[in-house]
Amino acid sequence: MILELIDGKKISAEIKDELKAEVEELKKQGKEACLAVVLVGDDPASAVYVKNKKKACEYIGVKSLSYELPASTSETELLELIDRLNKDDSVNGILVQLPLPSQIDENKVIRAIAPEKDVDGFHPQNVGALLIGEKGYVSCTPAGVIQLLKRSGVSIEGKECVVIGRSNIVGKPMGVLLLRENGTVTIAHSRTKDLKDICKRADILVAAVGKPKMITEEYIKEGAVVIDVGIHRMDNGKLCGDVDFDRVKDHVSKITPVPGGVGPMTIAMLMNNVVEAVR
Ligand code: NDP
Repeated sequence: MILELIDGKKISAEIKDELKAEVEELKKQGKEACLAVVLVGDDPASAVYVKNKKKACEYIGVKSLSYELPASTSETELLELIDRLNKDDSVNGILVQLPLPSQIDENKVIRAIAPEKDVDGFHPQNVGALLIGEKGYVSCTPAGVIQLLKRSGVSIEGKECVVIGRSNIVGKPMGVLLLRENGTVTIAHSRTKDLKDICKRADILVAAVGKPKMITEEYIKEGAVVIDVGIHRMDNGKLCGDVDFDRVKDHVSKITPVPGGVGPMTIAMLMNNVVEAVR
């Protein structure tokens, strides 16, 4: 079988270039996009994510406002800032980088962001809209997976799709999006029985389980398409996914690498949501 790598770097670059052109057009019509990025505390991984998001904004021509607050920020202070940004007509999108320090209730913060500015797609109104097939912002990582599949010529309709993981930001919206594309969807989780057998049915397997290299060839149907959402830093400093790439590569038709697969797509889809806010 000829193995094809699904190149997330290339596909995300294509999407960002399309968005850049669209932003230019929107500017000609007098419409400007502006994303407010809020970072609380000094978690190094969060700081890197925020830096990359601001860089992507700059690339596609979207203004970004940066709010870097100390780790000691109270919930009330953060909610007041969100309230100000909600009311600010020049701000189209609001992104609060998660996780937040323990004194702040993340759910409260997610609910405080106006749904029409919730470019992460985490607000219950946007989650509900996705479920019933109405317009709204879709969580960026699963939206990115759909783009990876479509743009690498994988048809979803009628396919057996298995998603491992049921988190609110990845697994659940992933299942709903695959269903929207007419896949036959199973969502597996930590209480699933006979996980290997279920995964072996999958034409399209999405691993969002959060366990390094858990998915081996024993979970794979010959010729399946495998999307690896997981991202982990190994002891040797290198990154790996939830899928054991070396063990599955001879059994799949297409697979996303880690890094360079799903990761770059998340930011591209965030940019898509920011532009959507202006469209
Ligand atoms: P969570 O930890 O929130 O969810 C993990 C899910 O996997 C849960 O639903 C859990 O089940 C399930 N699970 C855990 N262990 C098993 C098991 N042994 N068998 C079957 N199911 C299991 O993770 P996230 O959804 O937030 O993220 C998943 C992965 O994706 C992580 O590696 C994360 O780093 C990565 N990620 C990557 C992004 C990117 O941009 N590339 C963005 C977001 C996440 P249960 O519900 O029963 O506990």
